[in-house]
This record gives sequence, structure tokens and C-alpha cells, in this order.
Amino acid sequence: MTFFRKLRSPGLKVYSCYILQILVIEFHRQQSEFSRADLGFVQETISLVYQDLPKEINVFDAVGLGSKVFPGVSSTTGQNNKSPIYAASEAKLERIMKGVRNAMEDVGLQWNERKCAVVHVRRGRLQEPEENGIGAGEAITSLREDAQYKFLGVLENVKQQDGLVLEQAEKEYLKRLSVVWSSPLSDYYKVLATNQFALPVMSYFMWTQVWPIADLQRIDRETRKIMVENGARHPLASTDQLYIPRSSGGRGLKSVESEYKLIKIKAAVKLCANTDPTLKLVREFEERAVDKGRRSMLKDASGFARELGIELELEHPEPVGRTEEGELVDKKKIGVFAKKALYTKRRQGIEEQRWQGKLVANRWQDDQLDRSCFSLLCEWRTAPTYTIAALEELYQQLLPTKVYSTRKAKTSGDSDVRCRLCGKGQESVAHVLAGCSALAQTAYLTRHNAAFKILFFELLRDHGLVNTVPPWYSPTQPKPIYEGEKVTAYWDVPVFADQTEVRANRIDGRIADKARKTVTLLEMSYPWVDNRDHKDEEKIMKYAPLRLELETVPGF
Ligand SMILES: [Zn+2]
Repeated sequence: MTFFRKLRSPGLKVYSCYILQILVIEFHRQQSEFSRADLGFVQETISLVYQDLPKEINVFDAVGLGSKVFPGVSSTTGQNNKSPIYAASEAKLERIMKGVRNAMEDVGLQWNERKCAVVHVRRGRLQEPEENGIGAGEAITSLREDAQYKFLGVLENVKQQDGLVLEQAEKEYLKRLSVVWSSPLSDYYKVLATNQFALPVMSYFMWTQVWPIADLQRIDRETRKIMVENGARHPLASTDQLYIPRSSGGRGLKSVESEYKLIKIKAAVKLCANTDPTLKLVREFEERAVDKGRRSMLKDASGFARELGIELELEHPEPVGRTEEGELVDKKKIGVFAKKALYTKRRQGIEEQRWQGKLVANRWQDDQLDRSCFSLLCEWRTAPTYTIAALEELYQQLLPTKVYSTRKAKTSGDSDVRCRLCGKGQESVAHVLAGCSALAQTAYLTRHNAAFKILFFELLRDHGLVNTVPPWYSPTQPKPIYEGEKVTAYWDVPVFADQTEVRANRIDGRIADKARKTVTLLEMSYPWVDNRDHKDEEKIMKYAPLRLELETVPGF
């Protein structure tokens, strides 16, 4: 056991190496820098040299990195195969390196001294570099206290430099974000690029680094600021809505903070579920940190899970999660479960917003609406950002109406909120969209026809009266009459009734099927959601005489 105790001495990076193993497994799954064959090759080479060592010290075997960890105080890192070599003393290190070098040359590999660095640690302290006699070729640079060596992308010296890594990752992340959001990409692809091109700069490190949540929240704020500056977002738009899926009416962006928390939860679960004997050391290290009241990955993860209503029971080898209802979540499903819980939490946040969240929440609660009412956000992938941003402003009631500037933004002290167009109703988003009498005959009618013609053309095609349906943005208007052998369709043609009491005769569309002897009346309206039932009744009442009249038409 003294051997393992030595391994944990603060000067050694052994602990970070084990964590690295988790990282490397993840790394492999995503984008491997080395192929499996390469790794096997390197491992074989190295194990040839150290075959006399006890098996349990072979840390990287499980991931195929092939390196041995030695108890000791000096280490060097070779970037070519990305394996640190540890040795008890400089003399030993030199011997080992010579061996590795020879073995590598035997199999045709070259050792690149310029990409290596050496660190001498004595009793946990970094030693000032002396004349460097290490290595069997060119001299290898010694790391000073303020210098870093990059191992698997992570800056390290005696230990990993969490702060510096965050600083550099943040810089790159924000740089990529600025490029993405000022580009001519469509909104859908900007979000996709943010999640898959910018965010991984940060999330790659999240498995191993410990970062303050406040910093991650700040980065999220920076993200939103960049979006606002590029006209992709209203400054007062709902934050929660930005981070829920587009299919639910959100923007589908991933937040740095929640990504970090989800990754920490998954890493803790993975650590506790892993049966590899070497990972046991990390687990013990973490468990001891919990016992001693020190910072621990397990403690952090439990805290993050608790925020989402999951109590983690991190027992080896079967960690489980327990929901607030006492339901058990399997270790494999904890990640997905946490993601769902996060979504539910954001949704509740939106439902509680009385202004920005109201209209979207109304749609969720509406049992008559189809689930796909937000599908344009996912399916219209070429929609430019300003269109989606404007749509968001409508949904979140952020149009600069009088009601908005008096009650929400409070930029106007004017208490008169009457509509500037009709002077009657309150000038709110709902009024402008569906209640203003000044717009009824112009804008509303255009909108009505533009939407109804799509449905109408689809019906015409189904009845074989046209061959193609023009796209929604096409200026083509339907003709008043389409005559087929069996079916005749009318677009906005009044029905001339025999009986005089039929006044409401101008219906949007009519399809007369001679074979089946039916007339289908098509009428479309855009009531405000709260007004829908009332509008339905109104239409049924309005056209009741006409329906009666049509029933008396001979032959139908
Ligand atoms: Zn009005």
C-alpha cells in the first residue's frame, strides 16, 4: 500500500491520470486522434520494455494508451504518443527513456524531443530546472513554474491548470460564437454550429476540469450578449426559452452551465459504475475527499443532480438515482433523465413568466393544438435569423407596442395605451395580430388568403384539379373556379341562393363533388386562442341558413 500512498503524493499527477482515463474513453468515442491500431502499437512497444512491472500499475491499459506509471518524483511527457512517463529519480527516468527510445526505433517510431517536456518534483514541489542531462538524444526542456505543458489538450504543470484551461477555452468559444452569429448562416444552422462547433471547445474539458459555476454563468451571459448584438435576440427575451428544444417553441441552444452540470453527473455515475481495478483508486480518492470535507467530483455531481430533483446514490458498482417520487433511475438512464428534468425545470420557468412565457405556455396547455405547432422552427432550416428573432418577439410579446413600452419596458410614462391605428382597443401584440379593426380588411385579409390558399391547393391536388401545389411563398393566387369531371371547386365565389334570407353567402372555398353528391364548405379564420370557441360558434351560426339552402339544391 505504501506504493499507492506514494502515488497520491501531491506532486504527482497520478490522480489526474486516472481521471484522464475517463476523459480518454469519452475522447475515443467522439473523435479519436489516434486510431486503435496506433494505440495498440505504442502500448505493445512500451510493454516490451517494462514487462517486469506488476500488472496493476498499468494505468492506461484499459484505454489502450499503453504506458506505465512509476512511483517517483520525476516525470516527463512525450506528446507524440501522449503518454506521461513517471520515474522515481532522474537517473531512472533516463534509463527508461533510453529503453523506450530504442524500442520505438526498433518498430520504426521516432522520438521527438522538441515536443517533450520534463518536470522534476521533490516532496510535492516543482524543482528549478538544473542542467538537463535527461534523454538519450537532444536535451528536453524543463518546465518552469509559470510554463505549461499541453497533455491531451489540457494545460498542466505539476497539476492541471484548471483556471488557465478555462480562460483559453472561453476565449476560443467566444471567438467561434462571434464568427457563427455574425455569419450569413440561417438561424437553425447557427444554433447547430453553436452547439456542435463552439460548445465542444468547452465541453471537451468539462470531464476533467473543475470550474466555478459563476464563471460558466458569465460565459452564458456573454453568449446571449453576442446574440443580441447580432440581432438574433431581443434583449428582454426569455432566457429559458432560448435553451428549450425548438420543437417546444424554443431556440434549441445548449447552455454552458447546464452542459457542465450534466457532464459532471454523468462522469460521477461512470466513475462509480466502472469495474476497472485502476479506477478504484480514483473512486477511493474521491470518497476520501467527501469524508474529509474536501471538494469532490462526487459531491459536486450530487449537488447538481439535486438541483434537478434527483438524489444520486453513488454506490459502486451500481449507482442509481432516486427521483422526488421515490422512483429509481438506472445508472444508464441518469444522463437522459437529468436532461429531461432540466427541460421540465425550464418549462416551469416559462410557465411562470407572465409576459414573455404566456403565449408559448398557452400553446402547450392547448389540447386542441397539434403537437407540431412549432415545427416550422425545426423544419424550416433556411429561415434567416431575423425572421426567427421576430417570431420570437411576437411569441414573447416584445413588439414595441404601447402596452409594451408602458407596462413592460417602462420607457414611456404615457398612460394612454389605445391603439394608434384604430384608437379603440389596447395596443398589445394580441390586438395587433388579431383584433385591430383598422387592419381587418387589409393585412388580415392578405394573411387569411395566403394561408388558406395552401390548404385549398392541397385539396385541389387531392381531387386531381391541379398537378402541383405552389410553395407557400409563391404569389400565385387560385383561380375562382376549377372544373373537373366529377368535382368543381370554387375560391371565394358567392353562392347565389334562391332564398333571400341567405345573406352570409360569401364563403372562402367550396368543393362540390358530383359523384358523391356532397358540397364541402371551407371557411377559415384566425381567432386569438382565447377567442376560438366563440369564433367557431359564430361561423356555424353565420352559415346555418346557407347550409340549409344548399341541402335543398337539386341533385345534392
Ligand atoms: Zn387597433
